[in-house]
Amino acid sequence: MLFFESLSNPLLKILDLPNVVKIAKKHNLITIIDNTFLTPYNLCPLDYGIDLVVHSATKYLNGHSDIIAGLAVGRKSLIEEIWEKMVRLGASMDPHQAFLLERGLKTFSLRMQRHNENGKRIAEYLEIHPKINKVIYPGLKSYPQRELVSSLLKTGYSGMVSFEIKGGNETGLKFMRNLKIIREATSLGGVESLISMPFNTSHAGLTKEEKDRIGIKEGLIRLSCGIEDAEDLIEDIDQALSAVH
Ligand SMILES: *Cc1c(COP(=O)(O)O)cnc(C)c1O
Repeated sequence: MLFFESLSNPLLKILDLPNVVKIAKKHNLITIIDNTFLTPYNLCPLDYGIDLVVHSATKYLNGHSDIIAGLAVGRKSLIEEIWEKMVRLGASMDPHQAFLLERGLKTFSLRMQRHNENGKRIAEYLEIHPKINKVIYPGLKSYPQRELVSSLLKTGYSGMVSFEIKGGNETGLKFMRNLKIIREATSLGGVESLISMPFNTSHAGLTKEEKDRIGIKEGLIRLSCGIEDAEDLIEDIDQALSAVH
């Protein structure tokens, strides 16, 4: 099988879905995409012939950072195999989590509109800030896979923004800890903005060479823009950046 993310963590790279599907068909492989970052609001991978879509519902789908859940979507024959294992292994949600997820889903499209808007506003703000080296966001003109993005993403680009602060990891940590509204935590996709640095979280297990090779540079920060007022978030980032040298 081919297993990949629709928008990768934390460098936000996007894959050429029609081509991936073509390659998979040629070699008789099943395609599985983790669509957690883009969500069905921004991308429906089944439309491109992807076999299975998986989501961490812990993130945008629930949206309130108060449950752990996941799901798989696809044709019946594949889901039946997953279902059997799920029942045997006991990976079932308890009723309260199911209730919270269902409640969260009622505001999903409204939340995504705001996540998309805030992500774009903040990426554009960061891109021209003198203390920032580079901003990665699929909605920016500077995004390297711009053509692919405009053919795949019609609605928006989510609230995930990655950027490199000048001065490296130490400066990054100071900046994060100066923030007053945005909180330092490893999760994402909730109504509240969360920020983290891959070097001491998701990619802490990699050596310096491995990080260099995949492009996790010094000072890389990952921001999950929540649904707060964009002006408040920008003001918070602004004051936190002013206080680092
Ligand atoms: C968080 C996350 C997961 C893991 O999901 P949990 O719900 O935390 O178990 C998998 N893929 C992506 C892209 C994620 O962000």
